[in-house]
Amino acid sequence: MTRQTIAVVGAGLAGLRAAERLLDAGAQVTLLEKSRGPGGRCATRRSPVGPFDHGAGAFRARTPAFQAAVAAAATQGLLHAAPAGQRLLDLDPGPSDAPAWRGAPFMNAWPQALRERLVGRGLRLLTEATVRGLRRESTGWLLELAEEPARAALGDTRFDAVLLAVPAEQAVPLLQPHDPAQAALLAACRSEACITLMAAWSDPQPGGPHLLRPAEGPLALAFRQDAFDTGAADLAPTRWTAHARADWSLAAIDTPPEALLAPMLHALRDALGEAAPGGAPTHAAVHRWRYAQLLQAAAAPCGWSAALGLGSCGDGWLGSSEAAMPLDGLERAWLSAGALVDRVLGG
Ligand SMILES: Cc1cc2nc3c(=O)[nH]c(=O)nc-3n(C[C@H](O)[C@H](O)[C@H](O)COP(=O)(O)OP(=O)(O)OC[C@H]3O[C@@H](n4cnc5c(N)ncnc54)[C@H](O)[C@@H]3O)c2cc1C
Repeated sequence: MTRQTIAVVGAGLAGLRAAERLLDAGAQVTLLEKSRGPGGRCATRRSPVGPFDHGAGAFRARTPAFQAAVAAAATQGLLHAAPAGQRLLDLDPGPSDAPAWRGAPFMNAWPQALRERLVGRGLRLLTEATVRGLRRESTGWLLELAEEPARAALGDTRFDAVLLAVPAEQAVPLLQPHDPAQAALLAACRSEACITLMAAWSDPQPGGPHLLRPAEGPLALAFRQDAFDTGAADLAPTRWTAHARADWSLAAIDTPPEALLAPMLHALRDALGEAAPGGAPTHAAVHRWRYAQLLQAAAAPCGWSAALGLGSCGDGWLGSSEAAMPLDGLERAWLSAGALVDRVLGG
């Protein structure tokens, strides 16, 4: 293969995996990420009272390829499985008995370690670099970036190929002007919104549940974040992460986060009943995920136009309803990125 120059847009698990496979193949890779760090929805929010896993909380590995990747990351201490026979965040192991996995100690440990390893191998990573448009010229692809510092860093680099590893809804407008057929596949995808509360109390809260799945009210799931602490000092001893139901979240998605604090705290207290921590929280924040988890992903493993050098991957793909067991979002993201790079290298 001639040394290809490739842009990967989005540094979630899919973008990091695509970048890794491309570096393995000898490509020159630039990874562009709109936020300050990698991980995407495999996310951990740092706070003065300790970290909160405010995106994916756990995942399963059902295919041999992803199981191998997860086992390798576990060997490096970046992931850990639920102890045998136990459930982690109430993920049902299902008939395949796939255990639930978590980042160790927190969810973004794996993407952070991948980032460091890839940068060490020559990856050019640009953060706070939002790709808002793609331009195709005879000499290659040019990326239009929103932020001036990233624009200056990128210069007029031209790329042989652009791989989009962003949520389906955000890939569509970038694909549409160039490859309407690929855009149409992702336009059929639908993601659920999710409003997430991160709240901490300075008093220890002994006993009580560590996990809630309330049958009614705004919350779908809440868990004691401090259950995953590894003894670091200065962490608030009682920390809850709570995710609202999809319908409640969608109705609230354009409400300012400050205005969502009171109803989310109220919902958590209601769900906990007598086990609710007393007094005001020492820390509380809300994150609004407009696109959290896919309701329906495209059936194909990825999108790729060899003629254009334009592709897409991520959890918007590999949603085949014929699969015996639907794959979790993180596994779809990982596998889809591998499938796309196979297509890119295959020409
Ligand atoms: C609250 C919540 C709970 C979840 N629970 C689970 C779970 O239990 N199990 C599970 O497996 N999955 C779960 N998921 C889903 C899982 O997190 C995703 O499926 C997975 O992280 C998707 O990875 P990705 O790389 O495809 O996309 P992402 O992680 O979204 O990465 C895309 C990246 O692209 C960046 N980006 C977007 N647009 C641009 C642009 N224009 N320019 C530059 N960068 C851009 C984003 O900032 C992001 O970093 C959950 C998600 C949320 C939010």
